Amino acid sequence: MTSAHAATAPDAPRTAAPGITDVLRARRLLQGRLDPTPLRSYPALDRRLGARVLVKHENLQPTGAFKVRGGLVLLSRMAEAERARGVVTYSTGNHAQSIAYAARATGAPCTVVVPEDPNPVKAEAVRALGADLVEAGSDLDRARVRAEALAAERGARLVSPGDEPDLIAGVATAYLELFTEAPDLDAVLVPVGGGSGAAGACIAAAALAPRCRVIGVQSEASPAAHDSWRAGACTARPDRTRAEGLATGRGFALPQSVLRDRLDDFVLVGDEDIRRAQWWAMSEAGTVAEGAGAAALAGARAVAERFPGGRIAVVCTGGNASPEELRRCTASD
Ligand SMILES: *Cc1c(COP(=O)(O)O)cnc(C)c1O
Repeated sequence: MTSAHAATAPDAPRTAAPGITDVLRARRLLQGRLDPTPLRSYPALDRRLGARVLVKHENLQPTGAFKVRGGLVLLSRMAEAERARGVVTYSTGNHAQSIAYAARATGAPCTVVVPEDPNPVKAEAVRALGADLVEAGSDLDRARVRAEALAAERGARLVSPGDEPDLIAGVATAYLELFTEAPDLDAVLVPVGGGSGAAGACIAAAALAPRCRVIGVQSEASPAAHDSWRAGACTARPDRTRAEGLATGRGFALPQSVLRDRLDDFVLVGDEDIRRAQWWAMSEAGTVAEGAGAAALAGARAVAERFPGGRIAVVCTGGNASPEELRRCTASD
């Protein structure tokens, strides 16, 4: 039983994972705030991948990434008085934009701690949303320490990028849309960093598309979520991927508790495979994916032969590529 296991495991989540009821409530909270994102197919991309693939365009969200679904749900569900004291979070980028966007939409003060030398596109977007941006630490774990101190100092709510049930319920609404529009999928590939998106996919699939395989994709340069899932325990690993949405140095307990029971498979791809997939997104689908946003395409290429004649969906989770990143992926191929 998950609950008995959770009570004894050293990395037991502090909160319960959301269920499909929470996801349905999240969808109601998002109505009128976010439009459903398009689901499209591209014959030229299919030829590249050797499979029929549907692309869910979360890169077209107002913040350029799927995470805004979770941020809006979390901020909307905070009590008024708590919201007035503000939120503090830490992130490599898209989570920061999500929380900053949601804080602005709900009138909450917001501070975001990012590791030094952030993606300039993401840092500028966070500032433009009116959040206070603090650069601290050489990686996300060090940024977290600063965020914890700031939150304690200000009496603000610390928002974890991984261990928040409302974020999981919020991002799961992308998969409600996906499975409603394409109920006959054989597999969906989900890029994984902290694991909230994949946990949301698992919760939605269990309720709506139980025969659809949910497959996680992470970079082999930052395999913490993958290795935590394989080991059945949250593990720390080197964190060197260029795809900052996939960058994490450790597994997060709450999403891992969902993935442990429900994820069907988890594949690793190289940063170079991701770069090539970003180029395919541009050249064959006319869409800009950041590295993490193209990782599911790279994963689809890797598993396509397991689903001959099947239908696969990939989530293009984000489009916030830095100028340097765009130059790199158009440079060859
Ligand atoms: C955060 C992020 C991911 C990974 O999502 P998790 O919920 O942290 O696993 C994937 N793609 C993009 C673009 C992201 O910003």
